[in-house]
Amino acid sequence: MINVTKSFLPPLEEYVKYLEGIWERGHLTNHGPLVNELEEKLRLFLGVKHFFFVNNGTIAIQIAIKALDLRGEIITTPFSYVATTSSIAWENCTPVFVDIDPANFTIDASKIEAAITPATTAILATHVYGIPCAVKEIEAIAAKHKLKVIYDAAHAFGVKQDGKGIMNYGDISTLSFHATKLFHTVEGGAIMTNDDTLGHRIGYMRNFGHKGQEDFWGIGINGKSSEFHAAMGLCVFPQIEAILESRKTLSLAYDQCLDELKVNVKRPRLPKGTHYNYAYYPVVFESEKQLLSVRDNLNAAYIYPRRYFYPSLHTLPYVKPGIVLSEAESVSARVLCLPLYHELPVDSIKKICHIIAEVLKYE
Ligand SMILES: *Cc1c(COP(=O)(O)O)cnc(C)c1O
Repeated sequence: MINVTKSFLPPLEEYVKYLEGIWERGHLTNHGPLVNELEEKLRLFLGVKHFFFVNNGTIAIQIAIKALDLRGEIITTPFSYVATTSSIAWENCTPVFVDIDPANFTIDASKIEAAITPATTAILATHVYGIPCAVKEIEAIAAKHKLKVIYDAAHAFGVKQDGKGIMNYGDISTLSFHATKLFHTVEGGAIMTNDDTLGHRIGYMRNFGHKGQEDFWGIGINGKSSEFHAAMGLCVFPQIEAILESRKTLSLAYDQCLDELKVNVKRPRLPKGTHYNYAYYPVVFESEKQLLSVRDNLNAAYIYPRRYFYPSLHTLPYVKPGIVLSEAESVSARVLCLPLYHELPVDSIKKICHIIAEVLKYE
């Protein structure tokens, strides 16, 4: 069986070594030494000033919205995982969807200004599949209209734009370290900012607002992670270059195989100046019918690609209905993420490409 992804598991002995340390110290959670060590390593690797390890990527977005004290309308992308939209609604803000750029599937910056109203307070966009949003254009629009910018960077671990770590763009970036992500801590996430005032707020907010044992800075929530999760991160971290390298090799193998078989699928185009992380391998078919036929044929061979991301988020039952976003609807109906993980054999890639080529001959 080949799934769309497979979690990276480090050698068990390495994890056990960390467990022995936890047993010795008896310090299981609440900012233990492993959490501190992982935070510092990731902060340096991603090149940001403030880095907060939290218990998942969804609470990271929720705390980001709280830390910026956002209300009213938040302009966002319909093409992302559901957590991008649900976090906005959960924090009692209104998601306002702007269509995506058909070239790279991130929010179409040229359409943002038309969606701004007096109630707009922020833009929350996703570097979907690790592809950077139009960060320069978004920065200019935000400055002009005094809006805050949050990037859901859940897919963008290790991505750089114009030589700069992608987490440096916007007021706050968030990450997910869920087991299915490229770098993971089983469950986990992070909030990053270069702004000292925001960093200060986020530090308190993720720990119930505690300022010492008996004093409180203000309102907070439980965003903390544990030593066990940090230990997994510390085991995966030394492998990150190898993980990134293997994903690149496998993605290029897909490119070559699809090209040789003259398979007619569309691939997102990276912006100029992107150092990419090969987080996913999405392909867009000519029609949803083609996609479903390819999926069924792959499933028959015990291969399970995923419809990331479907449906388009502006059709969720809890958002205001009626808006039409033709690019997002069209891409989400036709895009399939093919299996991609560090130990996927190139032979499996060839088999997947051959099945797709065969199906498309008759569709
Ligand atoms: C995975 C993901 C999240 C949520 O992260 P969790 O750690 O699962 O809470 C948010 N946004 C995007 C784009 C994601 O892919």
